[in-house]
Amino acid sequence: MTTIGFIGLGIMGSPMATNLLSAGFDVIGFDVQPVSLERLAADGGQPADSIAQATVDADVVITMLPNFPQVEEVAFGAGGVLDSAKPGLLYIDMSSIRPQTSRRIAGEGAEKGLRVLDAPVSGGEKGAIDGVLSIMVGGAEESFAAAAPVFAPLGKTVVHVGPAGAGQTVKAANQLVVGGTYALVAEAIVLLEASGVDAGLGLDVLAGGLAGSRILELKRKSMVAREFAPGFRIDLHHKDMGIVLDAAREADVALPVGGLVAQLIAAARAQGYGSLDHSALLKVADGIAGANTAGKRRLTR
Ligand code: NAD
Repeated sequence: MTTIGFIGLGIMGSPMATNLLSAGFDVIGFDVQPVSLERLAADGGQPADSIAQATVDADVVITMLPNFPQVEEVAFGAGGVLDSAKPGLLYIDMSSIRPQTSRRIAGEGAEKGLRVLDAPVSGGEKGAIDGVLSIMVGGAEESFAAAAPVFAPLGKTVVHVGPAGAGQTVKAANQLVVGGTYALVAEAIVLLEASGVDAGLGLDVLAGGLAGSRILELKRKSMVAREFAPGFRIDLHHKDMGIVLDAAREADVALPVGGLVAQLIAAARAQGYGSLDHSALLKVADGIAGANTAGKRRLTR
């Protein structure tokens, strides 16, 4: 049986670890929050006291952390994954982070005899719980093949998209499209309501036509009702738009719509909505349009 060290047992990591346990893997997990370790133990996993303890006997280590500083600390810190791993360890970072960090882990990991993949995901908490995430994987072909049994209980669409860092670039493209779609769905709701049209009914029609999307399918009802419990937090999407814009600069391309979406998400954060779901971009659209939180026009014409 393969032993998996799982570091970062938050909204995404916790259900992913549970699915690996259900698939028959031994999971030894670490998180800085004790409550996450209690949840793992309740699901039949083994809590560890440190990164080193979660890594030292593992055949595979997965990290699912907020951003690159945490990943760099866990990977490169004293007693971190690279320090503690046995040779041949398959290290899969599934966090959404900048591609440079993924390439650095792959380079330094290879020097220590590790196999490294960047494998960020899309599909949200529900996708993690249901084991149907989309997983975009960067790294060597042989490492991808070796990781297949580990990805199987986690994802439905698992694609090897290129060398180290490529998974993160695909995830950046994903976040660009998701952010832009939310911004436009929000404006559609503002337009429908301000025009006296039932936004719920309007979006039902949109969802069935060319404008249809997973976002309309999953989020239109909660958006119209102004329910914004996360899900995926504005703070994390703000982080991801930074990765998008950095990647665009590195690739020497202009992404004007992406720049605007990044600013709308930054506005949501600046207005105090950072811990709400990213569908709370609607609150920014409401504000810009002069609509109140119930979506009604504040000014009478
Ligand atoms: P989260 O904040 O719920 O979980 C992160 C976990 O990492 C927390 O439990 C935290 O305590 C732990 N952690 C932080 N620093 C640590 C350290 N040094 N050592 C050990 N544990 C540490 O975040 P999340 O929503 O699970 O997201 C994780 C990653 O997945 C992010 O990069 C995010 O962008 C990405 N992602 C999230 C979603 C989503 O819908 N939530 C969807 C796709 C991708």
